[in-house]
Amino acid sequence: MQTSFTLAQLADPDLADADSILRACVHCGFCLATCPTYVVLGDELDSPRGRLYLTKNMLESGAPATKTEATHLDRCLTCLSCMTTCPASVHYMHLIDHGRAHIARTYRRPFSETWLRNLLNAILPHQTRFRWALRLSRLIYPVRALMPKRLQALLDLAHDSPIAPRSHKAGTYVAPGPRIRRVALLDGCVQPVLRPQINEAAIRLLNRRGVDVVMPPKAGCCGALSHHLSDDETALRLARADIDAWIREIDGDGLDAIVVTASGCGTMIKDYGHLLRNDPSYARKAARISALAKDVSEVLAEIGLGTTEDVPKLAVAYHAACSLQHGQRVHAPRALLRAIGFDVRDIDEGHLCCGSAGIYNMLEPELSASLLARKAANIEHTGAALIATGNIGCITQIARATQLPIVHTVELLDWATGGPQPREIIEIMKKACAEPA
Ligand code: SF4
Ligand code: SF4
Repeated sequence: MQTSFTLAQLADPDLADADSILRACVHCGFCLATCPTYVVLGDELDSPRGRLYLTKNMLESGAPATKTEATHLDRCLTCLSCMTTCPASVHYMHLIDHGRAHIARTYRRPFSETWLRNLLNAILPHQTRFRWALRLSRLIYPVRALMPKRLQALLDLAHDSPIAPRSHKAGTYVAPGPRIRRVALLDGCVQPVLRPQINEAAIRLLNRRGVDVVMPPKAGCCGALSHHLSDDETALRLARADIDAWIREIDGDGLDAIVVTASGCGTMIKDYGHLLRNDPSYARKAARISALAKDVSEVLAEIGLGTTEDVPKLAVAYHAACSLQHGQRVHAPRALLRAIGFDVRDIDEGHLCCGSAGIYNMLEPELSASLLARKAANIEHTGAALIATGNIGCITQIARATQLPIVHTVELLDWATGGPQPREIIEIMKKACAEPA
């Protein structure tokens, strides 16, 4: 794509980065067919190529973003399906960051939108606040009809979300046998409140394989949710706190990896090196952390699952989270589930997002609901008994649209290698026993 930035503009490292990304695009349009928003809306401006043009025009002109530009960039799920499809390796993820930063600087959103975004940004990255917000949402749910539409959608989502008791604490979880590795596990923000059993399963499984797991006390939210809201000041503050906590571990007893069980967070941490590239105090440390970040399935694929139990060979629909399949290009979970003996079923249109996309389901509820309905229908078409996936956002989202139980892949792998049976499996087994032969 031809660009016309001035030399003065190109002296800005962000604009120079945007320029080189835009120039890689050869207009082929392959990305259109695999973009969920284009598939649903059929408007070129809601396609990757359309958004590249909008971003190019905004950045070249330097003019304040318009409502049209903000609307079409807001509708992007950042699912990165376009990056998997693009034959020219256009780095759409970094380009949309530049576009969204420009919108954040120059566009005045309506009050209700600003209020909602500030509310989400103030609550979600903090476990305690999020827990209290979920409790409060249950109290006010009966009067939801009196609330503005956007708040109603938020309340519906909060109402459907479980609140788990506090679980694992910061500290070191030592492997019982000889140690082969020492890793840090990301605690995160939303996941420990909604489904702490994911990290509990990961700790048991890694310990069983001889991996010591440390959860440093000062590591928390990775910053991805604030980054999605274009609040990079908060996102990078959270990122720096995590980096400091992990660097202390690296300099202490050492770390072989930083393990992540929420693939949305994994994609963010793997990008710390890029996000902090212009910060002289953190650029090197951030690049070091990004190089160590791994999805839990990557680590398990490397070290193997060890001895497996004789578990029922259930039919499992594997939902590949966008952040794992497109953001990180990690496909290990399918092979790991098959290695255990599960009957892994692929889902039609598996490249399309379920509509969760971080906080997208709260900001764009209609489009998100349409993608969710499509995903749920495709999942049920597989005839599987349950669903496995690697991201808490997808778990919460998909659970709203299907009666099929849904668990994190690592919970199934833990169960199949000696861990407790997930509650959802107990229910499936009870039902199977109750059905007449
Ligand atoms: S990130 Fe996803 S929604 Fe956004 S343009 Fe790419 S494919 Fe479309
Ligand atoms: S597939 Fe890549 S090169 Fe082709 S139009 Fe889309 S972004 Fe441009």
